[in-house]
Amino acid sequence: MNSKLSIHGFLPEEIEAFCKEQGQPAFRAKQIFDWLYVKCVTSAEEMQNLPAPFRAQLSDHFTFHCLEKIEIQGRKGETQKLLCKLCDNEMIETVIIPAPRRKKNTICISGQVGCRFGCAFCASGQKGLLRNLTAGEIVDQVMEAAQELGGRPDNVVFMGIGEPFDNYDEVMKAVRILNHPDGLKIGARRITLSTCGVVPGIERLAEEGLQVELSVSLHAPDEETRSKIMPVNKIWSMGELLEACRTYTKKTKRIITFEYTLIKDVNDSVEQAHQLARRLEKFLCRVNLIPLSPVEEFDGERPDSDTMRVFAQVLERAGINTTLRDSKGSALKAACGQLRAHRLR
Ligand code: SAH
Repeated sequence: MNSKLSIHGFLPEEIEAFCKEQGQPAFRAKQIFDWLYVKCVTSAEEMQNLPAPFRAQLSDHFTFHCLEKIEIQGRKGETQKLLCKLCDNEMIETVIIPAPRRKKNTICISGQVGCRFGCAFCASGQKGLLRNLTAGEIVDQVMEAAQELGGRPDNVVFMGIGEPFDNYDEVMKAVRILNHPDGLKIGARRITLSTCGVVPGIERLAEEGLQVELSVSLHAPDEETRSKIMPVNKIWSMGELLEACRTYTKKTKRIITFEYTLIKDVNDSVEQAHQLARRLEKFLCRVNLIPLSPVEEFDGERPDSDTMRVFAQVLERAGINTTLRDSKGSALKAACGQLRAHRLR
């Protein structure tokens, strides 16, 4: 196992501290950051404006490559899924979702190996949480995907494996590295954190003063239905969650996106749509309806198109900005954690 730290997990000021320890001037940090994120080199040897002995010191201390791509599904230019191996042989998934017409590429990254929250329909949590990813492993996913894309992505969403707010510090550090003006410069508004409803995470995020997007996986209009499919509801109830969301929108003036996976005969009736509309009344929010992606571990089905359209209409008529997203990844086992789950089996 590689015990070196990933250089992609360091902010410029931390690299600067390392430079000083090695007797190097502070400006070296900016040069290194530029090589890493603007020129996108993958070794210290390529950093030509650094003295050779210092390049060797960098190689001794850091790894520049903490992920190994072991499988790529899908063709270039279409949705692609990368299965990557970490240095301890664990696996994570990263999805590349190009939108050539709008010229906006999105990368969907993982924040943990596995997940402790065990949503019934999600493949990521079937075997529980194995470990948190480091900021370096998180940023490295973006670098690997950028290499596939041939350039930096426009949007980054934490909708891969894991719960970002269950690994808050490393995830936020990765956000700051991705967002840094000397690095990839991915705008905070182009970074989305998605949570299954970890209330303390929402409360902390409200205090960060960062303009990131927040998505909340709601998936039900009432406590009982939500508890059935999302065990997290027994820790933080839907009531507490929506209260935290209200406080968040008041404090940050930022809109929240509620994710709602439609599952046939579970949460897709007209009454449930009305119930949801009532709960979200006067909320600064939008709703993303997603048909269930079939996963082997869950025997639910997606509703038919008419049912989904009616559900969306009820919300729209109640004045809620609603999108009905077709889950592009289903042919690719792109629902969270499916590729990894498949390999584990
Ligand atoms: N833990 C975070 C982020 C990861 S999941 C969260 O729960 O938000 C990203 C989104 O995909 C979540 O809304 C999740 O509920 C949804 N999802 C997971 N499995 C799915 C499936 N089989 N079909 C449709 N959506 C799914």
